[in-house]
Order: sequence, then C-alpha cells, then structure tokens
Amino acid sequence: MLYEAVIGLEIHVQLNCPTKLFCDCANTSSEKPNTHICPTCIWLPGRIAQLSEDALEKAALTCLALGCELSPKSAFDQKVYYYPDLPKGYQLSQHHMPLAYGGWIEITGEDGKLKRLRIHHVHIEEDVAKLVHETEGQTRISLVDFNRAGAPLVEIVTEPDIHSPHDAMAFLRALRTRIRYAKTAECSMESGTMRCDANISLRPAGSDAFFTKVEVKNMNSVKAVGSAIAYEIQRQEKLITEGREVVLHTRLWDPDKNVTVSMRDKFAGPCIPDPSVTAIRMEPERIEELRKQLPEMPAQKQHRFSEQYGLAEEESVLMSLERDIADYFETLAEKGVNARNAALWISSRLMPALKERKQEISRTEMTPDRSSELLFLIEKEIVNPKQAREIMTLMFESGKTASQIADEKGYRQITDTTELQTLLDAVLEANPDAVEKLRAGKKETAGFIIGQAMQKSGGRANPKTLSALLSRKNFT
Ligand SMILES: [Zn+2]
Repeated sequence: MLYEAVIGLEIHVQLNCPTKLFCDCANTSSEKPNTHICPTCIWLPGRIAQLSEDALEKAALTCLALGCELSPKSAFDQKVYYYPDLPKGYQLSQHHMPLAYGGWIEITGEDGKLKRLRIHHVHIEEDVAKLVHETEGQTRISLVDFNRAGAPLVEIVTEPDIHSPHDAMAFLRALRTRIRYAKTAECSMESGTMRCDANISLRPAGSDAFFTKVEVKNMNSVKAVGSAIAYEIQRQEKLITEGREVVLHTRLWDPDKNVTVSMRDKFAGPCIPDPSVTAIRMEPERIEELRKQLPEMPAQKQHRFSEQYGLAEEESVLMSLERDIADYFETLAEKGVNARNAALWISSRLMPALKERKQEISRTEMTPDRSSELLFLIEKEIVNPKQAREIMTLMFESGKTASQIADEKGYRQITDTTELQTLLDAVLEANPDAVEKLRAGKKETAGFIIGQAMQKSGGRANPKTLSALLSRKNFT
C-alpha cells in the first residue's frame, strides 16, 4: 500500500527584543549562566508579570508579516507541567485565546507547482530555563541556567498541509525570510533563535484516516528538519508494513547518527487561564498602525525587481532573499550601476567575500558607495573583471577606494586598440603552432592566445577587445 505523510510544524521564534517578556532583564544569550535574571524571571512566588509592549508589538508584526489575522482579544494561560527547567510549574503561554489566526506561506513544491501552506495560529509564550548536563568526577549533574527563562517567543503552528521533507524545508525558509523582512527576529536554527518541532503521521494515500502521530524535536538546522522527517516517515512506514503499532510519543533527532530516538515525555498538565497578566486588546486602529510599519515583503519585492530593473527570475529571487541584500542591491541601482551587473556582483563576488570574512551585508565596510565606485570602473572598462576581484580584496584589507588602488597598482586596463594589436601580434608570432591550429578551425585555441596576451600584459589587457581583434584576423 502507498502511504502519504501528513506533517504539521510548531515553530518557536525568539523575538529580538532588548528585554524579556515580563521583566526588564536583557534578552540575550550569554556565556556566563544566570547573569540576566531577576525575581520575576526565576519565578519567585508572588511576582507579578507585566507584559512587555515591545514584545507584543514585535509579536503582532510577525503575525502580520505571515498574513495572519490578529485577534481583537487574546489572553495568557498557565501551561502546567513539571520539570526542572520550569520551577514555578507552569509556563505562561496562550492556549485558549492566541494572538492571531490564519495566514499562509506559498512555496514551490517538488513538482515545480506553487503550493499554499496554511498557518493555524500564532501565540506568544515565555521561554523556559536551560538545563546543562555535566559530569563532576564520577557524578553526572544537571545545572539550570535562567538567562533564557522568560525570553519572548512566538509559536507558529501550521495546519497539517505539509506532505514531504522538501515542503517542510521550503516552508521554514520562506517563513524565516518573511520574519527577517519584518526585522522582528533573527530566526537562526543554528543559534537557537528559531526551533522547530514536527508532528508526523502517515495515512494510506487518498484516505482521511491517520495513523498515530509522532513528534520530533531537536533539529538544529533547516536541513536537519528535512532529514529528521525523511527518517521518521521511513521508520513509521516500516512499522505499519510489519503490522506493528505506531505509538504516540516524542522523539529527538540525533544529528550525529542521523536517526530519531525516543525521549521520555515530560508530565504535561492542563492549560488554565492565567489571572495575573492583563488580556491583550488589539484595536483596529492599532492594527492599521502596525500594518504600516511592515516593509514591502519578499514576493512583491521580487516581482518589482523584475519589472523595474529587468532582472531575470533567478536574479530577482536572489536579490529579494534577504531584506538587507535587497536594500544593498537597490542602493547600487539607484546610484546608476547597471542593475544586472549589480545583481551579479552581489551574488557572485560580494556575498562569498562577506561569508569568508564573516561580515554581514548591512554592516560591512564594503558599503554600497565603495562597491559602486568599483562597479563603475568595470562598466567603463577601466579595469577588467580579474583586476576588479583583486581590487575588491585590497579594498577589504586597506580601506582605500577602488580608484586609489587601481592607480597605485597600475591596474588600469589597456583598452587602446593599437597597443592591444601590437600585443596580440607579438603573441601570435611567438606561437606559430597555435596559429596553425586556428587556421585548421580549432576555435578553442583562441582562448589560449587570449590567455597568453593577458599574461603578457600583466593582466591589464581588455579581454573583450583582444577577442574582437583576434576574430578580425579571420583565421577560420
Ligand atoms: Zn528578569
């Protein structure tokens, strides 16, 4: 029998607020445990939690960026469970009245067709403490770090619309892009500011009845989510085929062994309405105000880049992938750099260089101003692409401008036709064998000749002009 996977995701996103959800402690990860804590976030009895306005605003913006409908009224519940990472015995979360409902994300499926994956709801919750397991001599000990306790989270719960590892990964990437556009969260699975749990069950293809679902946690990259889902589908398929039962439980992804392993369930109690935190009211005017804060979103930006700047589809996708990349690209285009050259430059030269130097495009010393100067030198054929690469490296190292480096290094390109003609003739004379091959119709020899001429000029010759001069010789 053929089975179909039915997958729902629960994604925790840590909002990039300066403070925690209910107190003024810094919302930051720190090397030193228990340094950002106060009586509220270590949950001493009797402390009253005050919801941070900044967190509420960023949570609401995140919802709007995902196309969700904000609820006019939402409220907190006490999600009761007992575990050492939660000494007060309950987590403040929204269960009965979440912040927002609905919304969807469009992805391209494996068959190349567009698919709309729906979001069920989004709610706010506080993070719990972090357990650190160590060994002291022969004794295994567990320590509790409260720096993360009370960090502001939103949890995004999808409808079970996802049917493959590919769709789950595409959904997460698109979700991350949209939230980063809204600038409300970093959304890095690697650093833990985005965490994803997957609920996976199988059903006979075409049927509405499900087998029991299994929850998988602990994936630390988008790719790991794909691998964990793929593994879990296979594991469940095998159980069902062998006539064994799929048991409702939680599993952890083990990235070293590439398997999911069963974990002991925490005791989970009920969700009781919390009497202490004031309910959230969202007036229509406030929602409108928030909506105005949203920037142009990736899909619209991509469409506009194609229309306005004549970018090919792949180029416009790359240029709208991150808001900072889009801003950089548009600044270059506004400065008058040819848009397609700018797009190519950013994706093939600048981004790899930034990655190598661990710099972010929004903060790099290679500002759009400095890049545009270099791009103009290329466009005016004052330097060739090879020289431009070297100039870029030196710009990173020295802080000098493109023109300064081009002058100092004597990198300015030789474009003078007479000079290039002399150079080419000298190369042809020195390589009679190659000339024979050209006469015999071996076109690839032209590359060799151009290469020799480039070398002879110290990399300064204009390769396009050389090529044109060579083809004018009519060897073939
Ligand atoms: Zn605190």
